[in-house]
Amino acid sequence: MGLLSQGSPLSWEETKRHADHVRRHGILQFLHIYHAVKERHKDVLKWGDEVEYMLVSFDHQNKKARVVLNGEEILEALQEKGERKNPNHPTLWRPEYGSYMIEGTPGQPYGGTMSEFNTVEDNMRKRRQEASSLLKENEALCTITSFPRLGCPGFTVPDYQPTPVEGGASKSLFFPDEAINKHPRFSTLTRNIRHRRGEKVVINVPIFKDKNTPFPFIETFPQDDEATQAAQPNHIYMDAMGFGMGNCCLQVTFQACSISEARYLYDQLATICPIVMALSASSPFYRGYVSDIDCRWGVISASVDDRTREERGLEPLKNNSYRISKSRYDSIDSYLSKCGEKYNDIDLTKDKEIYERLLKEGIDHLLAQHIAHLFIRDPLTLFEEKIHLDDANESDHFENIQSTNWQTMRFKPPPPNSDIGWRVEFRPMEVQLTDFENSAYVVFVVLLTRVILSYKLDFLIPLSKVDENMKVAQKRDAVLHGLFYFRKDICKGGTAVVDGCSTAQNGTETDTEEFTLMSIDTIINGKEGAFPGLIPILNSYLENMEVDVDTRCSILNYLKLIKKRASGELMTAARWMREFVSKHPDYKQDSVITDEINYSLLWECNKIANELSECPELLGSGFKKAKYSGNKTGSSS
Ligand code: GLU
Ligand code: MG
Repeated sequence: MGLLSQGSPLSWEETKRHADHVRRHGILQFLHIYHAVKERHKDVLKWGDEVEYMLVSFDHQNKKARVVLNGEEILEALQEKGERKNPNHPTLWRPEYGSYMIEGTPGQPYGGTMSEFNTVEDNMRKRRQEASSLLKENEALCTITSFPRLGCPGFTVPDYQPTPVEGGASKSLFFPDEAINKHPRFSTLTRNIRHRRGEKVVINVPIFKDKNTPFPFIETFPQDDEATQAAQPNHIYMDAMGFGMGNCCLQVTFQACSISEARYLYDQLATICPIVMALSASSPFYRGYVSDIDCRWGVISASVDDRTREERGLEPLKNNSYRISKSRYDSIDSYLSKCGEKYNDIDLTKDKEIYERLLKEGIDHLLAQHIAHLFIRDPLTLFEEKIHLDDANESDHFENIQSTNWQTMRFKPPPPNSDIGWRVEFRPMEVQLTDFENSAYVVFVVLLTRVILSYKLDFLIPLSKVDENMKVAQKRDAVLHGLFYFRKDICKGGTAVVDGCSTAQNGTETDTEEFTLMSIDTIINGKEGAFPGLIPILNSYLENMEVDVDTRCSILNYLKLIKKRASGELMTAARWMREFVSKHPDYKQDSVITDEINYSLLWECNKIANELSECPELLGSGFKKAKYSGNKTGSSS
C-alpha cells in the first residue's frame, strides 16, 4: 500500500515541521514529471491486478482460526525464490499493512489482446500455490476481506496482548502492534495518524440486530475513558488502523494511451466504483460481531482518519488551515476530464498557493485543483535520510502525499525516467474467496474500460450522487435492495470523446433528468425499455471481437457470475457468510461470532478457495467444468 522508503522514521512533531517542505518539493517533482511526459501518447493498454491475502492458521482440535503474524518471512521467501532470481518470474509479492498479510500481482502487466483474459486466473492460481507451498501444515492463504474475529482475544499466532498505552503505534485496546507489518512505514503511519488527529481513531460500525442481540447493544470499557466516550450504542467499536487497513481488497491498474485518456477513464470508472463494490461485498463481520454493513469501505476510511477536531468541524479553526469533509481514505472529490467538469458539484478544499502555482506552470484548472486538493494533506511518514531529494529525478515527496490519499480511484503520473505511461487505479473492490471470482471481477472491469473507450460511453452524473451511491453500496444486501443513481442515456458520445465532450454534454447546468435511481440488476443486466445494461453491452462488444473459443468461454463464465450476482440468483460473499453463520449450531442469534463459528466459516472458505467444496449458492454450477475441460495446466493441486 504505497511508498516504501528505508531509513529512520521521524515522529509526528518532526514530520510536521517538514510538511511544507514535502509539499513544495512534491509539487516540483510532479511538475517535472508532467512537463516531461504530458505529450506522451500511443502508450498501449497494459493492466494488472493486485490481490491481498491473509495468512490463517487452523487449530482443528480446539476449533480456532487465527491470523499468523509471519507475512514478512513469507514475503522474503517469495521474493527470494521469485523476482530476485528471475526478472521474468510470473508473480510479484509486496508487503501489506498487517503482519498477517501479503499482496500478490502478476510478474508482468497484461497486454491489450483478448487472450490475456484467459491467463489471469492461471496467474492467480500460481500466486495462491506459490505462497501456500511455503506455509506450515494447518496454515492457509485466504482471500477474505475482513477477518471476522480481528481484534478479539487471542486472534493471532503467536498470541500477543494489545498494549493500550502511549509509546507504541496503535494504543489499541484490541489490536496488538505485533499484528502490524514490521516495516517502519506501517507502524509510523499508525502512530502519526493518531498523533496528528490528537486522539485514537474511532470506528463505529452498526451491529446487526438479531433475535437475541441485546438492545440497546452497549459495550463498556471500564479502564478506558476515551473508548467509553467514543463507542456508540448499537455499534461495534474499533480503535485502530489495523481494523481498516488490516482488510484485504482487489485492485486493478490500467495504463492509458495518453494523459487525456487516463483522465477520461478515471472519471468514467469513478461512477462505477459503488456499483462494483456492492457487487463484490464480502465483509459483514467485525471484531467478533455480525455487523449491519457488507463492505469494508467506511471502516478503512475511519481507521486512517487523521483529521483534527478542527478539521472535522467540531471546533473552530485555530491551528489548522481548513475544514476537511472526508478522511484520506474516501471517494474521489473531483472529476478530471473536461466532460466531468459540469458534474463537479462537491465543495473542493484546495491548497490555494499550490493551485495558483500549478496554473502558472500551464496546468489546466481541473488537474491543478485535483493535485491541490490531494496536497491539503500533511505527509504522514518521513524518513530522515529522505528529506532532501533530487526533484528532477525522484518523486518520493509527491508519492508521499499521493499514496496516502487512498481514494476510490487513483490518477497515477508515470514515475520519473521510466517507460511507464499515465495510469489509473480502480480501488473499491472487496477480495473474493476464489481465483475464479477474483478473475471474473477483474476481467469485468477491464472489459468495461474497453467498451467505455470503444463505444464512447458516458456514465457521468454529479459527483455528489456518486457519493450517495457509495453510502448505499456498503449497506447490508445493497446488491439486492439498494437503489443507485445512474445515468439514463449512456450512449451519447459521438464526437472524439477523449479530448472533447459530445454536444449533448455542453450545457452548463446539470439536467436532473440525466440520471435516475436504478437497481444493480438494472444497471448490470439491463431492463427492457429503460436501460441497456452493462453486460449486454459487453456481450455485443465481444461479438465484434476476434476471440479464440477458450478465451470466449472463460469470459462468458466470468460475465455469467457478475450477471447472476447482480440479479440475486447468486449470493455475494457477504450474504453467503451471513447465512453460514446464522445456520451454525454454535450461533445464538445474538450477533456474536464465536471462535468455533469463526473456525468453521474460515475452514469452509478455505475449502471453497481450494475447490474442495462447491458452494453453488455463491459460485453457481457448471461454470468451471466448461472452463477447465482441456485445460490441465491451470488446475490447482
Ligand atoms: N487494503 C486496502 C483496502 O482494502 C488497500 C491498501 C492498498 O492501497 O493497497 O482497500
Ligand atoms: Mg495493497
